[in-house]
Amino acid sequence: MNTSIINILPDFVANQIAAGEVVNRPASAVKELLENAVDAGADKIELHIEDAGKTLVQVVDNGCGMKPEDARKCFLAHATSKLATADDLLSLTTMGFRGEALASIAAVAQVELQTRPQEDETGTLVVIEGGKILQEKPCACAPGTSIKVKNIYFNTPARRQFLKSDDVEYRYVEEEFNRVALVHPDIRFELYRNGRKIYFLEAGNFKKRIVALMGKSFDSRLVKVAEKIPDVEVTGYLCSPDYAVKGRGKQFLFVNRRFVKHPYLANAVEKAYQDLLPEGKNPVFFLHLSVDPHSIDVNIHPTKTEIRFKDEHLLYGLLLSACKHALGVSQIRDTLDFGSEQALPYQYKPQGYVPQAPSVKLQPGYNPFHTVAEKKDYRTAYGESFARMQESPAFRDTSDEPAKQLLLDCMEEVVADTRNNHGDTHNAGAEEKTSDTARIFQIFDRYIVTPLKSGLAFIDQEAASERIIYNDYARPQNDNVPSQNTLFPQTVELSSSHAQILNDVRDKLNTLGWAVEWVGANSFILNAFPAGIQEGRVQEILENLLDDYAANLMKTSSGMEENLALAMARQMSVKAGTTLSQEEMFYIVNRLFSETQSEISPSGRKTLWILSEKALSDMFSKR
Ligand code: ADP
Ligand code: MG
Repeated sequence: MNTSIINILPDFVANQIAAGEVVNRPASAVKELLENAVDAGADKIELHIEDAGKTLVQVVDNGCGMKPEDARKCFLAHATSKLATADDLLSLTTMGFRGEALASIAAVAQVELQTRPQEDETGTLVVIEGGKILQEKPCACAPGTSIKVKNIYFNTPARRQFLKSDDVEYRYVEEEFNRVALVHPDIRFELYRNGRKIYFLEAGNFKKRIVALMGKSFDSRLVKVAEKIPDVEVTGYLCSPDYAVKGRGKQFLFVNRRFVKHPYLANAVEKAYQDLLPEGKNPVFFLHLSVDPHSIDVNIHPTKTEIRFKDEHLLYGLLLSACKHALGVSQIRDTLDFGSEQALPYQYKPQGYVPQAPSVKLQPGYNPFHTVAEKKDYRTAYGESFARMQESPAFRDTSDEPAKQLLLDCMEEVVADTRNNHGDTHNAGAEEKTSDTARIFQIFDRYIVTPLKSGLAFIDQEAASERIIYNDYARPQNDNVPSQNTLFPQTVELSSSHAQILNDVRDKLNTLGWAVEWVGANSFILNAFPAGIQEGRVQEILENLLDDYAANLMKTSSGMEENLALAMARQMSVKAGTTLSQEEMFYIVNRLFSETQSEISPSGRKTLWILSEKALSDMFSKR
C-alpha cells in the first residue's frame, strides 16, 4: 500500500513558483512551521523559543502527522502534499504550497522531527543536519508533529553574525506568531520564551483573539466591519480613531486567511479615517478579505506577504465604503468635532513655566502685577540663558558661521528689547504684548518665527521641542527630569507584548520621570510619570512609547537609552497644530539655541531655517 501523500513537484511546476530564500532569520522558520501545523489541521499549537530562536524554534501540533516515508520526504526540495499540478496554483486554500520550507530549514540548522499520524500506533523520528539525514527510526510520541529547529546557521557562522540582538529577533518572532494566531482564532496557541509562558490563547472568535493578543483595553476600542458583495466579503474590526498610532505596525490585512502587505488596500482603509486622525497617526485595524481564489494570485513573493489581484479597484472601493460605514455606524464620526482642534494627549509645560494669567483680553479682574511678575520671570531667564548659550561648547563649535552670527544677532536683539521694556512695567498689558508679538510669533500653529537684525528665523515647533526633550532625556546624569505623581497609584493592564517591552526597559524608564512597578503578568502600577503628560492619557502614551521603542529597535543600532529618549521625545514633543503662548515660544527658542545638535531633530528633521536679508533682497532684485 502506498501511504505517502507527499509529491515531488515536477520542474515545470516548481519553476512557476516564485523561488527565493525562505529562511532569513529565526522568525522565518517560525512562520513556516506554524503554517505547516495549521495546514496539518491542528487545533492546538505550541511554539517554544530559546534565545529568540537562535538556539531553538520548536513547534508542537496535534495535527494529522506524517507516515514514515513522508517524514523523510518532507525535507526534500519541492516536496509537498498541497499541490500537484500547475492549475492547483490558482485555487490554493492552504498556507504552504511550495514544498520548499522544510528543505531550506534543514539545510541551515539541526532539525529533529517526531511525527505520528493520528491513526498509527508509533511515530517516526528523523534527525537531519545541514541537509544530511543522520537518523531515521520508529519512536514513541504523541499523535501529531513536533519539529525542533536547533542552532540555526550552525554551518554558516557568517550568516549567524548577521542576526540582530535577541530583543530584536524576538520581536520578529512575535510578529509572525501574532499574524498566524490572529488569522486562526479557532486554534489554541501557546508561546513560550525561554521556558516562560508568554501567551496562552484559548480558541475563540476573532474579537477575543485580538483582545487576548493586544490587551484588554482593546475590548472597548474595536468597531465591527462587515460588508459583502458577490465574490468578495470584508469582515473584522477597526480600532476607533482615538487609538491611532504612529507607524503601520498594527495594521493587519488578511486575504483568504493569509497575512498580506498591500499598501494600496491599506490606503483604502486609511482613507476611511480621513479627517478623523491627528497628523502623523495611522489607524489600527484587523481585517479579513475573503475573495474567490480564482481572482487572486498569491504566488508573487517567496515570503508570500505580497499578493496581486485582478481587480484591485473593486476591492479598494469595497474596503473604503465598508470602513466608512463601520466608523459612521459606531457614531465615532458624529461625536468628533471637526471644527475644533484635536485634543492633544498632553499639555506642554516647559520646566519652570508659570501658567499664564488671562491678561489682555479679560478686562474685569485684570491683575497687572500678576502679568508683570510673570513676564519678568521669563525675561530674566531668557537673558541668563543667552549668556549660557554663548558660553556653551555646542554653540562655540558650530561650524556654520553665518547661522551663528544670525542667531547671536537675534538673541541680542530680543534681550536688548526685553531689557528696555523691563522698566516700563506699570504700563503692562496691551502695548507690551504688541511689542512681544512683533518679536516672536507663530504661524500655521506650527512654526515659530523670530525676526533677526539681518533676516528671519523659522523654527519648526515639533522638531525643535523633540530635540530639547531628547537632549534632556539622553543626558547621562539627568537627575532632574520633572515628574508628577499620580493622585492614586494607577494600575495599568497591558498586552503581553507591551508588558515584555516594558519589563525590558522599566529600570531605565524609571530614571526618566516614570515610576512603574511590575505586579505580575501584564499588570503594572504607575506611581509617577513625566510632567507634561495628561493623567487621562498616560496609558495611551505609554503604549505608543513602547511601540515606538520597539520599532526603533528594529531600525537602528543605537542603545536602549537613546532609543528610549527618542521614543519619549517623539511622544512628548509639541505637535504641529498646538497653539503656543509667548512664554512657550520663548522657552523653545531659547532652549533650542543652547542645545547640542540644535539644527536637527533626533528623528532627522530640520528644526530651523533662516531666511537671510541677502536672500530676501535677492528675491526682489531685478533680473
Ligand atoms: P509546503 O508546506 O509548502 O507543502 P513544507 O516544506 O513546509 O512545504 O512541508 C512539506 C510537506 O511536509 C508538507 O506538504 C506536508 O505534507 C508535510 N508537513 C510539514 N509539516 C507538517 C506538519 N506539522 N504536520 C503534517 N505534515 C507536515
Ligand atoms: Mg509549509
